[in-house]
Amino acid sequence: KGIQVAIDGPASAGKSTVAKLVAKRFNYVYCDTGAMYRVVTLAALDQGIAVTDSTQVSQLAREIKISFAPGEPEQRVFLNGRDVTTAIRQGRIDQNVSAVAAIPAVREEMTNQQRQIAEEGGIVMDGRDIGSTVLPNAPVKIFMVATAHERARRRYVENKAKGIATASLEELQKEIELRDQKDSSRKVSPLVQAPDAVRLDTTSLTIDEVVDRISTIIEK
Ligand code: C5P
Repeated sequence: KGIQVAIDGPASAGKSTVAKLVAKRFNYVYCDTGAMYRVVTLAALDQGIAVTDSTQVSQLAREIKISFAPGEPEQRVFLNGRDVTTAIRQGRIDQNVSAVAAIPAVREEMTNQQRQIAEEGGIVMDGRDIGSTVLPNAPVKIFMVATAHERARRRYVENKAKGIATASLEELQKEIELRDQKDSSRKVSPLVQAPDAVRLDTTSLTIDEVVDRISTIIEK
């Protein structure tokens, strides 16, 4: 049936890419929890709700339907049945998502949905608080890191490849560092390495090398 695999780390450390490949290798379900916070953010911005309005954003988080479907090269993400896969990667989402993710009732709702998705096992879930909060009993926990410079470079290349309007490399690095700082300093389930997580510095590793290392840990 398979186990729960939790992959956490700062922005653009390569978590989604790696998590998706690991899931494929073991025939597990993949769940990108960052995409869920991004969908809530998009819904708020679209409805003209301020991301700082915790009451309205929390209500919205409970009302909307977030769903996933397989896709190449990336998983498709839906908001009330509308394909928002590309829309949630816009710069305005990057800039507002940490505020949404800091709202306790939003986290509670997302955490509940994520636990339901992971219930059966055979899951690779990536995010910021999976090993620490969402799936504290996951037998495999990975904390992926890379230098901010390398993460900005990867995001830049990815944006270009996807045809998303991208900021300069310098601006991306600043945005990434600011988001990490916000995600690490929020009160509820901040970005932190779980004590029993394996730390993996991917700065000078290829995607395949990272996937192989995680696969070895899962097979143990
Ligand atoms: O992984 P990604 O960069 O798409 O995540 C977007 C944002 O969602 C993060 O910067 C963080 O604010 C929030 N997030 C979170 N907890 C998770 C996953 C993402 O707070 N488990």
